[in-house]
Amino acid sequence: KTRVYKFGNKTADGNSTMKNLLGGKGANLAEMSAIGIPVPPGFTITTEVCTEYNLLGKASVLKKIKEEVEKAIANIEDIMGTVFGDKENPLLISVRSGARVSMPGMMDTVLNLGLNDEVVIGLAKKTNNKRFAWDSYRRFIQMYGGVVLGMKPKSKDDIDPFEEIMEHLKEKRGIQLDTEFSVQDLQDLVYDFKDAVKKRTGRHFPTDPWDQLWGAIFAVFNSWNGNRAVYYRNMHGYPADWGTAVNVQAMVYGNMGENSATGVCFTRDAGTGENVFNGEYLVNAQGEDVVAGVRTPQQITKLGSQRWAKLARVEEEERLEKYPSLEEIMPKLFSELNDYQEKLEKHYRDMQDMEFTIQDGKLWILQTRNGKRTGAAMVKIAIDLFKKGLISEEEALVRMEPNKLDELLHPVFDQDALKTAHIIAQGLPASPGAATGQIVFFADEAYKFKNAILTRIETSPEDLEGMNIAKGILTARGGMTSHAAVVARGMGKCCVSGAGALKINYKARTLTVDGKEFHEGDWISLNGSTGNIIDGKVATVEPELSGEFAELMELTNKYATMNVRANADTPNDAKVARNFGAKGIGLTRTEHMFFEVDRIQAMREMIMADTVKGRKQALAQLLPMQRSDFEGIFEAMDGLPVTVRLLDPPLHEFVPHQLTTQKDLAEDMHISLQAVKNKVAELQEFNPMLGHRGCRLGNTYPEITEMQARAIIEAALNLKAKGIKSKPEIMVPLVGTVEEFMLQEEIIRTTAKKVFRERNDKVEYSIGTMIEIPRAALMANEIAKHADFFSFGTNDLTQMTFGYSRDDAGKFLPVYLEKGILKVDPFEVLDQEGVGQLIQMGTERGRSTKPKLKVGICGEHGGEPNSVEFCYNIGMDYVSCSPFRVPIARLASAQAVI
Ligand code: PEP
Ligand code: MG
Repeated sequence: KTRVYKFGNKTADGNSTMKNLLGGKGANLAEMSAIGIPVPPGFTITTEVCTEYNLLGKASVLKKIKEEVEKAIANIEDIMGTVFGDKENPLLISVRSGARVSMPGMMDTVLNLGLNDEVVIGLAKKTNNKRFAWDSYRRFIQMYGGVVLGMKPKSKDDIDPFEEIMEHLKEKRGIQLDTEFSVQDLQDLVYDFKDAVKKRTGRHFPTDPWDQLWGAIFAVFNSWNGNRAVYYRNMHGYPADWGTAVNVQAMVYGNMGENSATGVCFTRDAGTGENVFNGEYLVNAQGEDVVAGVRTPQQITKLGSQRWAKLARVEEEERLEKYPSLEEIMPKLFSELNDYQEKLEKHYRDMQDMEFTIQDGKLWILQTRNGKRTGAAMVKIAIDLFKKGLISEEEALVRMEPNKLDELLHPVFDQDALKTAHIIAQGLPASPGAATGQIVFFADEAYKFKNAILTRIETSPEDLEGMNIAKGILTARGGMTSHAAVVARGMGKCCVSGAGALKINYKARTLTVDGKEFHEGDWISLNGSTGNIIDGKVATVEPELSGEFAELMELTNKYATMNVRANADTPNDAKVARNFGAKGIGLTRTEHMFFEVDRIQAMREMIMADTVKGRKQALAQLLPMQRSDFEGIFEAMDGLPVTVRLLDPPLHEFVPHQLTTQKDLAEDMHISLQAVKNKVAELQEFNPMLGHRGCRLGNTYPEITEMQARAIIEAALNLKAKGIKSKPEIMVPLVGTVEEFMLQEEIIRTTAKKVFRERNDKVEYSIGTMIEIPRAALMANEIAKHADFFSFGTNDLTQMTFGYSRDDAGKFLPVYLEKGILKVDPFEVLDQEGVGQLIQMGTERGRSTKPKLKVGICGEHGGEPNSVEFCYNIGMDYVSCSPFRVPIARLASAQAVI
């Protein structure tokens, strides 16, 4: 079995199809090398070795890979013409992790490996650059100490021993920047760093390059089970046994002087999807300098540089002098890079995120991967590539992450509100969208506010969890490729980065800008599309859905066979849903219509009534209100089917529970306070979710069903009179026995007949039921004999199948998720294994007696992509979800077919 795969010099043992084995990075390096991209030579230790290591331990794994690794190092030495550990002509290497999917900042990297007190002298001689050699050496000890020897600070109160030593020396020398250190300073730092290692770990810093290499390799394997990696894995649902590969590669240096540089670039704009090559670089720097946000990077293209200068309010003269683009200062290398970016995008047929280094005038491509992007960019890029003929329609559809559409559907700032908004500063538009929220300064405190704006000098991988919780991210330092920017785009979260005008004081928890001091909890707003930072709250509006988004939606229609409907309770929701392309309403929860202030009174009177006559009187008041709601919804849907569900919730939800409101009701109804209190007590239930609700209401108080059926039929007739078509589907909730359904059906049919006679006119309607009680799924063949359609209410079905109260599960679900008892919240993602069986069985049994039975789903799961696929697979006719999830469900529905 091969455990080590070599690459370099335009050949490779592996290729891009081997991501699971070589990790994303390793597979890409192999592929790039094979297609003629100049990657520094190296090798990849497979992810299987990581799993072997976790099972068998270090000694046994070391035996298995030792010889292969030694041969692979010899191969690099051959290609580079240098020797690992040699005092005169040393080969230095990097060691990086690489899981099968990109996990930004999660795993550890060691650079400059192979240096020691003797090699550093050789390196200095060879490059004729003492400063560079010693700087590399001190960086190596710092990284190796942190990553391999465990000297990284554990919390924000903990100090980084290396940083502390550097700060000390800067103070002593009266300097501010790392670049101001003299060679002697760097030599002192190396000495002090090694001393710190000895003090902290009790061991000398390893001087043998081979010891260094093995230490780094196993540290990478260990980092797979580190806290950050585990959190990221859990967040994305990646299993632990994927493991990570280790990539070992020859070092090339961007910090060898003014003829060297390093940078990051994207073949298209990761924020908007625009087809423009863009990126950032720094002259005389190492890779991490670009993303660390310590120096503000310059733009790669002239166009990008000019755009940046405009935002940063830098005059053209100053731009050319201080921040010229790579295109302007190294035109030949730029054009070479430009060729490679075109070649790579064509080869991978997707937007690429590349890292490159120029070492003393020679360009090396360090890595390329499919770039992270916002939802908007995802749509635009896929549609553009499809139009260009690079990918097929099907591929364009399959590539989209349905949940990412969410970002496009969410509000942006109201243009009018923006006119009066006070802009306090501007940063880079790192990740588009609008966010309004309250300032927090530490990631682990983001939970403090419902809408938190995480405000940092810069972010690091430790901040991931807080970034995920926050509504928006603001940083004072760092470019478009800084950690904050890249991660925020991946999360689809609004982010403004590199707002240099911000003065952040962590200790005092203040943000000073534009002559004003902000404190924790103060409101600010971020515009991730312009980079504007605004004082206070700003109103937002719904986004416009045109262009590529509309084209994508068109495309979904071409492939999707299962319809998407919406859950909508008001004419307005129905309109929103139609605009998003809903093919009907799958659930109108009529109880939501009673909660409005002017209606709840009539509802309460109905409930308080002791006699059928009293109830009917109150219901007569409710009838016109319901009828006009239905007219509005039917009209908005203009002939598309609308499923109206009869009253579902327990009655106690409608009666007043506070003394003052009870008094008001007593007064209004001219009854005693005691009578009100008695009724409230009477309605009190131990377990209302399993109590007097659903069709149990309609069966005990048939007059409620009568009124609702009348309102629905009359509304349809009224519209018909106006020439507007409607297709009401009347749905009976919470059915468990066929008799429950039959009784309700009879009431509805009798009422409809009566109304038809009164009006001397007719409309078509159907009567179906929700399947949301396990017994109903079991009895589906009997129920289907009477019902025209089924709609799976997976909220209740999940509740009753698991036996988890919908209203109380919040108390234990987080612990269950943390302990791995459940992988996901079953109220969010359909439990296909368990609850899914009931759905499949219910559908099959139902269709066994009524082959043409229409079947849909209207629980929250109807808008969750995986659940949508499940519904398609078992043959549902439609899914129904909240209006804003309709596009997501449409995409998921199309993907399910492909
Ligand atoms: C359901 O139970 O899935 C459902 C759609 O109904 P509700 O959420 O109103 O109980
Ligand atoms: Mg329900």
